[in-house]
Amino acid sequence: MAQKFVYFFGNGEAEGRADMKNLLGGKGANLAEMSSIGLPVPPGFTITTEVCTEFYKNNQAYPEALAAEVAANLKKIEALMGRTFGDAQNPLLVSVRSGARASMPGMMDTVLNLGLNDTTVQGIIAQSGDERFAYDAYRRFVQMYADVVMGMEKEILDHLLEQKKEQKGVHLDTGLTAADWKDLVAQFKKAIFDELGQAFPEDPQEQLWGAIGAVFGSWMNQRAITYRKLNNIPAEWGTAVNVQSMVFGNMGDDCATGVAFTRDPSTGENYFYGEFLVNAQGEDVVAGIRTPQPINRSKPTTLPTMEELMPECYNQFVEIRETLEKHYKDMQDLEFTIEKGKLFMLQTRNGKRTAPAAIKIAVDMVKEGLIDEKTAVLRVAPSQLDQLLHPSLDPKAPKNVIAKGLPASPGAVSGSVVFTADEAEAEAKIGKKVILVRIETSPEDIHGMHAAQGILTARGGMTSHAAVVARGMGKCCVAGCGDIKVDYASESFTAKNGVVVKKGDVITLDGSKGEVMLGAVPTVPVQLTGDFGLLMELVDKFRTMKVRTNADTPHDAKVAREFGAEGIGLCRTEHMFFDAERIAAVREMILSEELEGRERALAKIMPMQKGDFIGLFREMKGLPVTIRLLDPPLHEFLPQEERDILELSQTMKVTVNAIKHKIDSLHEFNPMLGHRGCRLGITFPEIYNMQVRAIMEAACELVKNEGFSIVPEIMIPLIATTKELQVLKQNAVAICEEVIAAYGVKVEYLIGTMIELPRAALTADDIATEAEFFSFGTNDLTQTTFGLSRDDAGKFLPFYVENGILPEDPFVSLDQTGVGKLVKMACELGRGTRPKIKLGICGEHGGDPESVIFCHKIGLDYVSCSPFRVPIARLAAAHAALGDK
Ligand code: PEP
Ligand code: MG
Repeated sequence: MAQKFVYFFGNGEAEGRADMKNLLGGKGANLAEMSSIGLPVPPGFTITTEVCTEFYKNNQAYPEALAAEVAANLKKIEALMGRTFGDAQNPLLVSVRSGARASMPGMMDTVLNLGLNDTTVQGIIAQSGDERFAYDAYRRFVQMYADVVMGMEKEILDHLLEQKKEQKGVHLDTGLTAADWKDLVAQFKKAIFDELGQAFPEDPQEQLWGAIGAVFGSWMNQRAITYRKLNNIPAEWGTAVNVQSMVFGNMGDDCATGVAFTRDPSTGENYFYGEFLVNAQGEDVVAGIRTPQPINRSKPTTLPTMEELMPECYNQFVEIRETLEKHYKDMQDLEFTIEKGKLFMLQTRNGKRTAPAAIKIAVDMVKEGLIDEKTAVLRVAPSQLDQLLHPSLDPKAPKNVIAKGLPASPGAVSGSVVFTADEAEAEAKIGKKVILVRIETSPEDIHGMHAAQGILTARGGMTSHAAVVARGMGKCCVAGCGDIKVDYASESFTAKNGVVVKKGDVITLDGSKGEVMLGAVPTVPVQLTGDFGLLMELVDKFRTMKVRTNADTPHDAKVAREFGAEGIGLCRTEHMFFDAERIAAVREMILSEELEGRERALAKIMPMQKGDFIGLFREMKGLPVTIRLLDPPLHEFLPQEERDILELSQTMKVTVNAIKHKIDSLHEFNPMLGHRGCRLGITFPEIYNMQVRAIMEAACELVKNEGFSIVPEIMIPLIATTKELQVLKQNAVAICEEVIAAYGVKVEYLIGTMIELPRAALTADDIATEAEFFSFGTNDLTQTTFGLSRDDAGKFLPFYVENGILPEDPFVSLDQTGVGKLVKMACELGRGTRPKIKLGICGEHGGDPESVIFCHKIGLDYVSCSPFRVPIARLAAAHAALGDK
């Protein structure tokens, strides 16, 4: 069968289906689906994404058969609508819109009211009986087409419109008459010709193909490319083009247009949530020029609602809401228009939602019997939980609220004010926290929104660009804050009470309340709702891989346990050495020339270490705890300040110079590859011996005195050869046995190693003859596999990622092809030698959803991550178990 390029929908039928998103794009597939389940959708057709791909492959040429298919489908629309494209008496007007596989809100182009010219406008006057409406539609079309298709600078036509309003002494577009619009159409066309040397196309067919070309072309515009990069959308997907008969929400007071969500996208509450504008076109709602009215009184409002103004349409809309939720079994984001009292559905798609809403909706839908538990778990993206785990404002802290806007996206952030996206990006690059303040945002601001901590806009509703994009990014956002007047020229905004905030001043946003505060207000950690707990219960039903935490203190361990950690996968003991009370003794130990001096210093540290471990074991209540012996190069502990050096010389009774000399001698050119990890244990066995003794005494004491059951896991870092491990294990075993015998108790323990060096991974079969467990230290393993310094990569890695040389920062998301291959191989080799060997990961990747899924696939027993990422890892592990790609 010949390849089909165009799919028709309308009149209760459709050639496409919801599951044809790859071919028809999200919008096209859902229009087809809505049409075939009998919802009122204006008829139209979708040109497939394959045409887009071909278009770019073939030097921007269309497949030969496309023209005939478009013509035939246009005829079908004409027949259903009883109107003819380009007809002088009864013309058909169409919209031309993009629609990719993944939603890319506002990133690509749209043309409305297409088919208008000096002849057909007469037909529209005859159809609508409204000359002003007809010319208003005409001028909107010319403006949009000139901008989108012809590449005319927007400001030129906007300026002519402003000039007209000034001449007429009116402030709003509504003050202009039919004659004014008619005159403006002529002025616009002249300006286009003067500027571009090209006449505005009068022929509707030429207009149509111009718009189709522009929409395909917009797939490759800069903002679409940026958006794809940020959201990992491949360029090969392409966009579809939807051509659909126009319906008008601006033909009078029995017309309206709006957007709605079948549940509240911010909180997830189960009520019909939406906004609309009477006598307006779709772009008026999203552009945030007029403040939209709610569709009902589910939440208090002073504005008249759709339910009150248009009860019949509202009731029909409520039924459609139910039909759609039952059909799609998910919260939907809807666009609708009412033309002369008749409701039309223009779009439905799975609605973007905040993390709390995602959880509430998933949990509620299970209770309502709409979805099963597996689906609920898969509905919440692990990365989304990050948003939920964001802090909120400390309720006890004083706050100076200077303005209130809409609570568009939750979270609480402080930062200094900037007014442009470029500034936001530049400031963020040098590590500053900024709040981007705009009158309203547009897709051009996307990079700045990404860089900013939070976003504040003066105009626009809960469905404005700023609100929708911020929510998607999980960024705190206060939108539609009419309390502030933004003045770009003076780089300041003025609040209602007269407070002036200038560029660089610090403000705080509360995206859950919509409040804007002067200065930085302190925040408190997250409080999780009951729904979160319910979801996590479901998550744990499906997850097979354990989740541990990286924690060095009883406090961190406690937080992690509250988040569901099932053990400690990494306790970095060196963090305990930095404590103010201990650092002097640690330095004494490092700087002692003789064993005796070192042992004296270690004897001071030992009881403190033992106390640390008792604290950790207590907190973990019998769950596994892996303690890593000292890892970093010793010079990291040395004093830099003269004052500290002097103090140390007094305690140690040696000269300042002697200490300085020792510090110099410890200098390394490449400390990451130097005297660190197990190499310290080999050369200064007394250090590891002290640590092992502290661990075992802590365990034995708790077992003996408090009846604990503990199996300490002693972990040796940076092993490259089996011999290193063999020597260190022998020492450790001797001490463990000695301590156990002294306490007269039975305590089991494990001695294992980190796999952090390629040589260790390559010889894992041999290493497993000694190691009772492996924990993949993928931070170092990434560093050493790539030959990429963890400390210096920041200078060039971002460039690599931005330019696609690396798909992602390999220190954030595991490089599965390279480093991952080593990990997988080491697992297989290790299991070959010791089938029951315990395998885990404790590099930062243990909290990255993609990496967690990889770890599940290669059969690790657990991942270990920072406490706040434990829920993310649990959810990712469940997704992995449920086969989520
Ligand atoms: C690692 O290298 O992955 C690791 C967990 O150890 P550290 O980050 O302490 O070097
Ligand atoms: Mg390491």
